[in-house]
Amino acid sequence: MAHRPPYTNTGPAPHLAGGRLTIDLSALAANYRLLAARSAPAEAAAVVKADAYGLGLEPVARALWTAGCRRFFVALPHEGVALRAVLPEAQIFVFNGLFAVEAAAAYHDARLIPVLNSQSDISIWEAHGWDGEHPRPCAVHVDTGMNRLGLTLERARTLAEENALTGALTPNLVMSHLACADTPDNPMSRKQLELFQAVRVLFPETESSLCNSAGIFLGDDFLADLTRPGIALYGGSPTGGNGNPMQVVVTAEARVAQVRQLRAGDTVSYGATPLARDSIVAVCSVGYADGYHRAASGAGVPLRRAVAGSAHGFIHGHKVPVLGRVTMDLTLFDVTALGPDAVAVGDHVELFGPNMPIDQVAEAAGTIAYELLTSLGGRYHRNYLGGESL
Ligand SMILES: *Cc1c(COP(=O)(O)O)cnc(C)c1O
Repeated sequence: MAHRPPYTNTGPAPHLAGGRLTIDLSALAANYRLLAARSAPAEAAAVVKADAYGLGLEPVARALWTAGCRRFFVALPHEGVALRAVLPEAQIFVFNGLFAVEAAAAYHDARLIPVLNSQSDISIWEAHGWDGEHPRPCAVHVDTGMNRLGLTLERARTLAEENALTGALTPNLVMSHLACADTPDNPMSRKQLELFQAVRVLFPETESSLCNSAGIFLGDDFLADLTRPGIALYGGSPTGGNGNPMQVVVTAEARVAQVRQLRAGDTVSYGATPLARDSIVAVCSVGYADGYHRAASGAGVPLRRAVAGSAHGFIHGHKVPVLGRVTMDLTLFDVTALGPDAVAVGDHVELFGPNMPIDQVAEAAGTIAYELLTSLGGRYHRNYLGGESL
């Protein structure tokens, strides 16, 4: 029997699962190549934190490596350790820093590069980041307006001066993070870029990095030496709704468990939402425990935020609205428009994918594609396309 990587199919078997995910690794690779071309002459890294945005660290990392990606970012040290087991030669940065002295050994063993965000991170790495005679590489994060992680510009200046004398650190990257890159007209990005130029001057020998996915599309002066796309690799729009140049990577579908013919005035789901008309309802075996957010519940449900219309699924050529509340394991879709007998048990409703753009579904649920992907969970059958040769 031909060798098949263990991730070609994962999760529960198709006939035992309530939904299925198709993850197209060829589309992922194409998205990486597009972002790399857009980033040139800067190099494109890949952000694979949170299990590669919920899509599976190992298959995603292998596909990106095969597509030519050599530098990766994760959020947490344990994610870096897991990635090292997959990619022995990659350069791996850890955004959230060192945490504690006890973590330094794990950074050494897995050859992880900490992003130093604070004085505490700096002190730990100055004391414990040595490899015999030499300080191991690190990255320095300077805050330019997020006020989340990172050194102040003043602290970065003293660090650069001190380090020029002591050589206690070997920074190989200086980075910052944009707060508003997904709204291209926002003047905040350019303000941050100006501060970042001042940071780059402090570390003239060191490579620099500013852009997430959306930042890559703000203009060439933002690109610096290394870009850090995440969501756009996975098919989310990096251009804030102005068309999406990325290929679809993830298709999420829910199995139809039952079809009901209901009358006007009948009620559906928790809270008993009344139906305004006679309806055909497809009951599907995916719910909020599978990342189909409760906030995607149908129009007229009191708990919904005031956002436009219902979230929609897609089946047999039609967009179909969610009906009533999304529950933990089940979601109802109104398939009346398809007519009687059009939808059968065992059919699948596309939750998002080529026919239902993920960004539209996220917006209807009052959230973003990032949150839909990272909450997919482990109950779908997963089919990875294009992974056979990795
Ligand atoms: C998550 C993250 C990224 C990737 O952002 P996307 O918007 O998904 O491209 C880049 N940089 C930092 C610091 C991050 O936390």
